[in-house]
Amino acid sequence: MSRLEADHLARPDFAAIPRYSPGPDVEINLSENTNLWGTPPAAAAALREGVTAGVANYPNMYADSLKRVVAELVGVGTDCVVTGNGSDDVIDCAIRAFASPGEKIAVPDPTFVMVPVFSRINSVIPVLVPLKSNHEMDCDAMLATGARIIYLCSPNNPVPVSTPVEAMRKVIANAPGLVLLDEAYAEFAGETGLLREAPALQRLLVCRTLSKAYGLAGLRVGYATAAPNIIETIEKSRGPFKVNAQAERAAVAALTLDHEWVTARVAEAVANRIRLDAGLRSLGFVPLPSRANFLLVPTPKAFEIAAHLRRHGIAVRPFRALTGIGDAFRITAGPWPLMERVLAVLRS
Ligand SMILES: *Cc1c(COP(=O)(O)O)cnc(C)c1O
Repeated sequence: MSRLEADHLARPDFAAIPRYSPGPDVEINLSENTNLWGTPPAAAAALREGVTAGVANYPNMYADSLKRVVAELVGVGTDCVVTGNGSDDVIDCAIRAFASPGEKIAVPDPTFVMVPVFSRINSVIPVLVPLKSNHEMDCDAMLATGARIIYLCSPNNPVPVSTPVEAMRKVIANAPGLVLLDEAYAEFAGETGLLREAPALQRLLVCRTLSKAYGLAGLRVGYATAAPNIIETIEKSRGPFKVNAQAERAAVAALTLDHEWVTARVAEAVANRIRLDAGLRSLGFVPLPSRANFLLVPTPKAFEIAAHLRRHGIAVRPFRALTGIGDAFRITAGPWPLMERVLAVLRS
């Protein structure tokens, strides 16, 4: 069969859906907002002990041990917790389950690039709502779309700005359908977020990830809280066995035993982000305010700078023509010697 014929086998709208570009293969990867200090110690130990344990068997269908740990930590019932193969998975399954093909999802612009992609994969139409001039989400405009799902992200990405919780509460109180709040960077903002309140708020799903502060991006673990009927619906959409046995064991260890390590690394990431911000300003850049473990630096030279850093073994993430911002590069805050290397390359 020719390539041309094979192309016609897929759903027609898939031609316009991009395949995510592969992550950079470089010495220092400051492009994905992961934990650059590495894996938390108890999670690493759990992985070493369990390399082959139970691998001949299927994992627990819905990762019950992880659910119990999250439920206890957050202070909600276990029936108010869903897990996934990354929080990506939870977002994808929620979009599929809470909007029918052809219905709309309101998405801030810019935000997490995967959200419009998952929407279109599920035949749900993303309605992009520009951020306000202060880079917070425009909650009134998002409500005004009347969309079946409203996606909120606070702190947002790649614009690392938080939106006041009162504005988000107004959305939750007035939305016609599901409100999906992505709190991937909440640990760095030092904000409580709405994880604990989600089940009582009826239409709210709050997603967290172990890929950022918790240093487990390679294992793909995410979770979310909501009222039990929402959780059950997402589990139907998601299917069983999505969190593998090793990932579940490491995630349980991280959430129960690594709290101190994670808290210390989060504090270091925030301190180094502030130092990096000052260093970049001394070079004439003006990063946007940040509540996360990264900076967004608007500059017409974003792609040139990314290429220059790349030649020195450092990856940052350049963005083209972000709405209301223009070209910009995003850089993850990590151990200070790495930040120093970035500043030295930029000075040269
Ligand atoms: C990184 C990120 C996620 C998450 O990822 P998983 O690795 O799939 O858990 C989700 N939302 C935002 C905004 C992110 O930046």
